[in-house]
Amino acid sequence: MSRFAKIEAGAPIEVFALIKAFNEDTFPQKVNLSVGAYRTEESKPWVLPVVRKVEEQLAKDYTLNKEYLPVLGLPSFASAATAMLLGANSPAIVSGNAVGVQTLSGTGSLRVAAEFLARTLGYSVVYSSDPTWENHKLVFLNAGFQEYRSYRYWDEKTKGLDIDGMLQDLQAAPENSVIILHACAHNPTGVDPKKEQWEQIAKVVKEKNLFPLFDSAYQGFASGDLDNDAWAVRYFVEQNFELLCCQSFAKNFGLYNERIGNLTIVSSDKDALTRALSQITLLIRGMYSNPPNHGARVVATALNNPDLFDEWKGCIRTMADRIRLMRSGLKERLVALGTPGNWDHVTNQIGMFSYTGLSAQQAEYLRSQYHIYLLRSGRINICGLTTSNLDYVANAIHDAVS
Ligand code: PLP
Repeated sequence: MSRFAKIEAGAPIEVFALIKAFNEDTFPQKVNLSVGAYRTEESKPWVLPVVRKVEEQLAKDYTLNKEYLPVLGLPSFASAATAMLLGANSPAIVSGNAVGVQTLSGTGSLRVAAEFLARTLGYSVVYSSDPTWENHKLVFLNAGFQEYRSYRYWDEKTKGLDIDGMLQDLQAAPENSVIILHACAHNPTGVDPKKEQWEQIAKVVKEKNLFPLFDSAYQGFASGDLDNDAWAVRYFVEQNFELLCCQSFAKNFGLYNERIGNLTIVSSDKDALTRALSQITLLIRGMYSNPPNHGARVVATALNNPDLFDEWKGCIRTMADRIRLMRSGLKERLVALGTPGNWDHVTNQIGMFSYTGLSAQQAEYLRSQYHIYLLRSGRINICGLTTSNLDYVANAIHDAVS
């Protein structure tokens, strides 16, 4: 008998199962609202023109080689990524209290962060929002955390933030719990705390001696403005928190499969930070040894050149604007159709996702009757909408809800 015979099948990952079903669907008007990636007006993936331009430059540069990168990655990338997050003139950067480490996209950054917090600092309890990106739990438990808990976040009634529930749950968290906070464009709800609410959150995190870890997978993608989208992280740094922030360049650079991310570490003690980096070096050495080069070079080239940087910011605005246009297009149609319920949340929420409030049954109905694919939670990727499918999707939602 095979040694593997007693292995139980793992649970399927919903989003990948839906993408497979969508690809196999032959219905011409099918719509994919499940994938977590940007799509153009033509429903196509978008390689950012600035990325193409940098790649062409890199391809012609024969001084570049394929040697290993250092364990902590390409320095010109990591420093530019941290500057983009905290602001180039951030006192934490200038004083050497904030550093970046190149990682394997946002997920890899979360994994390195979780390994560091569990193995080096000995933290054992992690909290994320309810709901959250479904991979937080797996990443943190696999990295050695003993307990994964949720804090209240989504308010079903207002289709907004349950700030009181969130603050109460943080108040009740044991000291040294790691609190995962979405820096902006919360996945899956599209609901972010307002500035005053961030201030309240920071107060509790400080009072209860919790450890803030920001997940920043959508900087620039939420409002179209990099500084605006980094407000919460910068506020925490100004308040002298020690923190980690996991950045992904998958969405804002469209570099999904290049696996390019950064882990920013902010510490009040520079010597301790150097020792922390030496431990992170060992953690990474034992996991994948060194990160890949291509994505790091592309992002570093774009961030470190003022013209390319501006061009990239233009690309982000293009994506953020299209998302906003599709949000208002969907809401207008639902309102015009008289679809039961209030649809203000579709435009109040920001970023790529909308938590529509559609039930699992309604999601299933949309898939079976209309070939529209969305998660059972009712989360839709707004980028799956285009001018040409908005009427079709709105009519289908109207039918599912009525
Ligand atoms: N964090 C959040 C909240 C996300 O939504 C995602 C991707 O969907 C990630 C992290 C990580 O993405 P990646 O590993 O592709 O950078």
